[in-house]
Amino acid sequence: MDLEFPFDPVERSKDVEAVVAHEDRRLYYRFRPAPYYGGIATADAVGCPFLCAYCWNYNRNLHPERFNQFYSSQQVASKLLHIAKKRSFRLFRISGAEPVLGERTFRHLSEVLKLISQSTPQSRFILETNGFFLGCKPELIQNFRAYPNLLVRVCLKGTDEESFEQITGAQKKYFRYPITALKEMKKLGIRAWPALMADLFSRDLINRLQVHLRAQGIQDKLELEYLEAYPFVKENLKRRNIKTSIFNKILTNS
Ligand code: SF4
Repeated sequence: MDLEFPFDPVERSKDVEAVVAHEDRRLYYRFRPAPYYGGIATADAVGCPFLCAYCWNYNRNLHPERFNQFYSSQQVASKLLHIAKKRSFRLFRISGAEPVLGERTFRHLSEVLKLISQSTPQSRFILETNGFFLGCKPELIQNFRAYPNLLVRVCLKGTDEESFEQITGAQKKYFRYPITALKEMKKLGIRAWPALMADLFSRDLINRLQVHLRAQGIQDKLELEYLEAYPFVKENLKRRNIKTSIFNKILTNS
């Protein structure tokens, strides 16, 4: 898919969803037991409105059209349940992509959540999202109240508009959307918290983001995650022509 940076993630979301979702089916390329969170049944998908320079699945998300294996929500749930049963896991997630690109993928996700919570009420589904589409359409979020086993981790991609645009490739004006999604989840009592790729920011910038979140009523601890600096990730950071000091640590180690 051709892209000019910075791109409009609203348009990109629509284009990508048209490629990766057909009716109830979505493109996935792998189902696996993963070691994170102490063991979690994981469905790896393709397709995202962003194109983060540090994305471990960058090339698949750049070219989702290269994949052609669609799975219905029923098939996804049964594959994840099979893995969980075999490994005695209680945790589930979709990874590698953004689970919610638009209303079609939202319905697919909701169906997966329903099937898993009906089958294993004691399980937990960790929705790892960039919060973009949920921030565009916060009215969708109330549907999550039907799934008490849902936990939502919203990965904020920048500490401000500039770093958001540099990292995601998406226009800076959309920085606030994931924060809107978090605020809505807090309002509705859905368990959700913010996360950030800590390696890319100074302590001062992280503190400023925390102050900003608290001012918006988001009191939860900011989860800090750490970069897996694959060679292609370093290359992508350079290719974006990122010159701010936030990347010095990574670029000088390359
Ligand atoms: S939001 Fe996540 S899946 Fe999407 S490009 Fe960024 S890191 Fe990759």
